[in-house]
Amino acid sequence: MKNIEALDCDVLVCGGGVAGSMAAVAAARAGARVILAERYGFLGGNATAGAVAQFNSWQTASGRPVVAGMAQEVVDRLRVYGGAGEHEVFVMSTGHKMDRVAYAPEVLKLVLDDMVSEAGVQPLFHANLLGVKCAHRRIETIQLLTKSGVLNVHPRALVDTSGDLDAMQHAGARFLALDEGEALQPATMMFRFGPLEHTALDALPKQEIAALARRGYESGHLARAALHFARDPFSADGWFNISRLSIDATDAMALGRAEIEGRRQAWKAAKYLREQVPGCEKGRLQAFATQVGVRETRRVHGDHVLTATDLLRPTQFEDAIAAGAYPIDIHATAGGDIEYRSFAEDHAYQIPFRSLIPIDLDNALVAGRGISTTHEALAAVRVMTISMAVGQAAGLAASLATTQGGDGAVRPVDISQLRIQLAMQGGLLK
Ligand SMILES: Cc1cc2nc3c(=O)[nH]c(=O)nc-3n(C[C@H](O)[C@H](O)[C@H](O)COP(=O)(O)OP(=O)(O)OC[C@H]3O[C@@H](n4cnc5c(N)ncnc54)[C@H](O)[C@@H]3O)c2cc1C
Repeated sequence: MKNIEALDCDVLVCGGGVAGSMAAVAAARAGARVILAERYGFLGGNATAGAVAQFNSWQTASGRPVVAGMAQEVVDRLRVYGGAGEHEVFVMSTGHKMDRVAYAPEVLKLVLDDMVSEAGVQPLFHANLLGVKCAHRRIETIQLLTKSGVLNVHPRALVDTSGDLDAMQHAGARFLALDEGEALQPATMMFRFGPLEHTALDALPKQEIAALARRGYESGHLARAALHFARDPFSADGWFNISRLSIDATDAMALGRAEIEGRRQAWKAAKYLREQVPGCEKGRLQAFATQVGVRETRRVHGDHVLTATDLLRPTQFEDAIAAGAYPIDIHATAGGDIEYRSFAEDHAYQIPFRSLIPIDLDNALVAGRGISTTHEALAAVRVMTISMAVGQAAGLAASLATTQGGDGAVRPVDISQLRIQLAMQGGLLK
């Protein structure tokens, strides 16, 4: 295979999901030369390709904001395009109350394009990670498979935001194992269905929705006893989150099977909606997500492993770089149940910078759904609001590590400077 020209940069961000997009923009705005490598031709990851369609948990149960900064900027920009709904509180399939902003995944692609372009990030689309060369605990070269051949990138610092942490895998970094009795959270094929008659749907009593979901599940039409969806702001359609695929998404064969099975589950669920659920009679399956949405795969072993106890206590970290309030929400691999541990009214938790630092490497950070947490803690901090806040912090930190003569080493980053600058950018740290 042809090797094309090598590129140098300060920060290479690998994976353009919401965490990677925020990391790249934050690093570039802070003055770093940034390349953002993404395997698809658009940004967003689960948020666009996976069509998750709602940003959850901006605030504590009592309404105190815990996520803002660039995540809020994303919503503001979506609103300019008309692509986001109002901030609202809704009832989850578990019966718990949650706040969210629903958005149109296609419009989010435009917003992320705008943000990276304006910040001066060099996007490298259709670029798949091929290999990583390391020496003396440092990432030296990232090899990307592109349409032009193999591109060697020499970054001073790497931010792995590939969700599955493919760069960390190639670099030989250690991962955290599941504990006895734990399993990876299932994947889901989101699908768009409509038009919906929202007045009829909204008028359904909660018990009736629960009974319809239970009947659909027990009769084999639904893979999960839920009728959960987010409204598409551009149409009368909804994005439904009611399929369930128990796979390890880093297993290529299993991932392929899940795409096929996910579309089958979605098709069957759409038929059930149309035939059985009031308000859905005129609906049709309009679109599948580009790929199955993946909740959990690899978690890096970092300098600090964030635990459920850290979230529940909550531990106050001197190096906190983001906050969150989303509860511990573990989807069972079979049976469709959800283990949900909600928090007290004003409860929020913090995420420390050390949970972004792979224990085995000096010039790398991780952001998004692969940070150093236990399986239980990830079930809380994986949501997109928090992923964006952590991505912003990772990008800013990578910039601090590489500009003004920095060699990319991330542990010497001045934490108080990082926290001050995050706060100046509207980031909330507790
Ligand atoms: C079905 C489902 C429902 C969810 N519901 C909600 C919800 O209601 N609200 C909420 O806030 N959150 C929700 N979440 C969680 C949230 O969507 C994710 O945790 C979050 O989007 C993770 O973002 P990320 O950027 O870390 O990773 P990802 O979104 O996985 O992004 C990784 C990016 O890296 C790219 N990439 C991967 N490998 C490579 C490679 N080898 N080379 C190049 N590029 C690569 C991918 O294409 C992708 O763009 C849900 C998740 C799922 C799956």
